[in-house]
Amino acid sequence: MGGTKASEQVSLEAKNPFELRVNLGTGVSESAVKKALTTGDMGFLHSFTTGSAVDGPGVRVVAWTAGCQFRCLYCHNPDTWNMMNGMPVTLDRAIEVIRNYRHGLRVMSGGFTLSGGEPLMQDRFAVRLFKATKELGVHTALDTNGYLGERLSDAELEQIDLVLLDIKTWDPERHLHLTAKPVGPTLDFARRLAQRGNKIWLRYVLVPGLTDDEDDIHQIADFAAGLGNVERVDVLPFHQMGRYKWERLTMNYTLDDVKPPTHELVERVCGQFRAVGLKAY
Ligand code: SF4
Repeated sequence: MGGTKASEQVSLEAKNPFELRVNLGTGVSESAVKKALTTGDMGFLHSFTTGSAVDGPGVRVVAWTAGCQFRCLYCHNPDTWNMMNGMPVTLDRAIEVIRNYRHGLRVMSGGFTLSGGEPLMQDRFAVRLFKATKELGVHTALDTNGYLGERLSDAELEQIDLVLLDIKTWDPERHLHLTAKPVGPTLDFARRLAQRGNKIWLRYVLVPGLTDDEDDIHQIADFAAGLGNVERVDVLPFHQMGRYKWERLTMNYTLDDVKPPTHELVERVCGQFRAVGLKAY
């Protein structure tokens, strides 16, 4: 297996999440992992990146967590599926990174985004990091597939200014095929956020032949418009930048022949969201 090895000196900050990172947490004992997950004293991170303009409003510092329970066929970061590929990072160190950027983030109307992987696989770490970030006066965003949303209490949701919610597809069978998990919990989480009035930016990865079904998107658009708390929809065109990770991890990649969506297809899908009154980009 290629990529970054645990024995090498690995920087917590990466240029982007497309760096392949593996085995960074393998030296941590099982009991320490269990304690970390229970207390949130430590998290397992692929990396921090800075300067993102696409993971929430303004300029963002993003922490990419390791660990995900979905198995999306189009995943760009399959090295983040396994939590033990992530670097063990104490909560204090993670807070320190955000503290170092806090003035700039405020000036640029930006903030901190926790992404992944799936951040709620490490929900205690996520909750404590969001609380500390809010105390620094920095805007907080959670990028999630929503599957584990019930792990967050109402009080904990108060610490999150914005949820970037990924809805992968609508049809239950297609969702199971695409992600290996049912769609219901994600939709339940969306409804709960709507009831509470938590802001959502919906994210939709558009893959030709896989997630471009017109009726499916129509159903998602109707659902999203009915929620009343979806501020915008980001249609994210599929690309092949993550393919090399599947190859290096010797995983079976099934989308070799899939091309990025055409401009016309992206416009059609954005148009479907706009037709129900949503802002879509
Ligand atoms: S939810 Fe995100 S990180 Fe998890 S498998 Fe899907 S695309 Fe990858």
